[in-house]
Amino acid sequence: VIPPKGKPKWLRVKLPTGKKYTELRGLVDKYKLNTICTSGSCPNMGECWGEGTATFMILGNICTRSCGFCGVKTGRPESVDWEEPEKVARSIKLMKIKHAVITSVDRDDLKDMGSIIWAETVMAIRRMSPSTTLETLIPDFQGVERNLDRIVEVSPEVVSHNMETVRRLTREVRIQAKYDRSLQVLKYLKDKGVRRTKSGIMLGLGESEDEVIQTMKDLKNVNVDIVTIGQYLQPTKKHLPVKQFITPDQFKKYENIGMELGFRHVESGALVRSSYKAHKHIE
Ligand code: SF4
Ligand code: SF4
Repeated sequence: VIPPKGKPKWLRVKLPTGKKYTELRGLVDKYKLNTICTSGSCPNMGECWGEGTATFMILGNICTRSCGFCGVKTGRPESVDWEEPEKVARSIKLMKIKHAVITSVDRDDLKDMGSIIWAETVMAIRRMSPSTTLETLIPDFQGVERNLDRIVEVSPEVVSHNMETVRRLTREVRIQAKYDRSLQVLKYLKDKGVRRTKSGIMLGLGESEDEVIQTMKDLKNVNVDIVTIGQYLQPTKKHLPVKQFITPDQFKKYENIGMELGFRHVESGALVRSSYKAHKHIE
């Protein structure tokens, strides 16, 4: 365990470069396209964009929830933009994205919790870029089956929902969510025939090794296919502090344990984000 004093060297990243990256960066700036990759200044941009993967956020940028780790603003969200599905689909076409990850803020203020816009976005992307594969990283929709069904019906290649942390820390890390409800959501998706389900957790929030392993077992129990494990980094001083920097060896250990548990893919490493290497997860 390394005390969190300054970032360890494995968390320092090179600035993204490459022809494909430069080209996409130009498009994003020119057309003011909304990607999580740029707004969150993700360290993996060079790599992901080079492979034709990007993450887009829908349903605005104000969330009705206030998770202690998350840099997204909380408050009363703007009204729904019904043209958003077309706009996102156009961005994906323009950027020639091969594998798109779509995510959203939580919209507990809406009756359908945003699930209709979700489904329409997937349909618009399918229409404009039929060969682009999709991962939908969805909220829990408060576990309401009708909302989850809308996602299942448009059949994205991968459906993910993040646990974010271990059971004991769930209240502190994402106050409006519930550990068991998230597991139930993942179970429901798989039972309904989603081809690949996926979930992610962040480490460094004070969880123990046993708790991480237990979380992986819980995910395996609901037949999740893919797990991502990354280092939590504090977005601002107001957010939860980093309690630990997990070493590369420890990440590797979790990866091995996960593979032994029988997951199809385990991405485990300090810079892993839930959409990191996402294109591989359709396999
Ligand atoms: Fe974008 Fe996700 Fe890749 Fe980061 S990890 S660059 S957010 S696709
Ligand atoms: Fe951030 Fe999602 Fe939590 Fe909203 S629900 S605060 S977007 S992690």
